[in-house]
Amino acid sequence: MIAMTIRPTGIVSLIALLACGWSGCTTVPETGRSQLLLISAEQETAMGLSAFSQIKQEEPISTNKMAIDQVNRVGRRIAASVGRELPHAEWEFVVFESEQLNAFALPGGKVGVYTGLLELVESDDELAAVIGHEIAHVTSRHSGERVTQQMMAGAVALGAEVYMESEDMASSDRWVARTLLGAGTQVGVMLPFSRLHETEADVIGLRFAAGAGYDPRAAATFWQKMKAASGEGGRPPEFLSTHPSPDNRIARLQELAPALLPLYREAKAKFEALEMEPIMDREIGADPGNK
Ligand SMILES: [Zn+2]
Repeated sequence: MIAMTIRPTGIVSLIALLACGWSGCTTVPETGRSQLLLISAEQETAMGLSAFSQIKQEEPISTNKMAIDQVNRVGRRIAASVGRELPHAEWEFVVFESEQLNAFALPGGKVGVYTGLLELVESDDELAAVIGHEIAHVTSRHSGERVTQQMMAGAVALGAEVYMESEDMASSDRWVARTLLGAGTQVGVMLPFSRLHETEADVIGLRFAAGAGYDPRAAATFWQKMKAASGEGGRPPEFLSTHPSPDNRIARLQELAPALLPLYREAKAKFEALEMEPIMDREIGADPGNK
């Protein structure tokens, strides 16, 4: 039987080939990196929207006006600086009442920030570093890539089962093979993949923040605070568990920031002029002597 002679690696190559020939290969525009996506942007958005409405039902939403205003002010400017349309994005920025040092963005333009993280950030610039990073994960379709990776891992496991069946392996050997295969996909594929996504989100997110008129040097100071906060032991460092924070991340952000300073200064002037406009109009309108 033909199916029995297909090796697991053969199945993956076959899927990749079919997917690229079909429509699965795209490029992250900001970095030029090729990526394989076996789900459509529409499917990804649907998953994001449903996850967000579930989180909103489960987590308490903050009513702190200052916090809500800050997250919306920074988030909307960054969304405007992305420079390309997110498929079906309906931007929404929600503050959740929680001690967690956490923030997230989901496909569909849904962003959540926890009050614990807001207590840690000292300026809009630092908050912009966080929101820029999270939005960069979404624009780069990292969750779609992860889903694709899991589909591929599933195909490898299926292929291995077929192979083991054909080789008539003893059941104890099969158990060992399955365990090794599971560990292999976790350590060999998923972890480096998540590190790649973190680096890419750092690089692109920094550009988004600068393009929205926020100081790119604040990303490094933010991560220094995160590192210090995670050492206190009081609050669980959830954000860090999915966002590895080695010193070289801070060093890389410090290295990238100077080149983005001209973009930051230009964008800051532009946004400040835009924000001044309605105030000046109001002042002129309110002055009865000024006609
Ligand atoms: Zn991240």
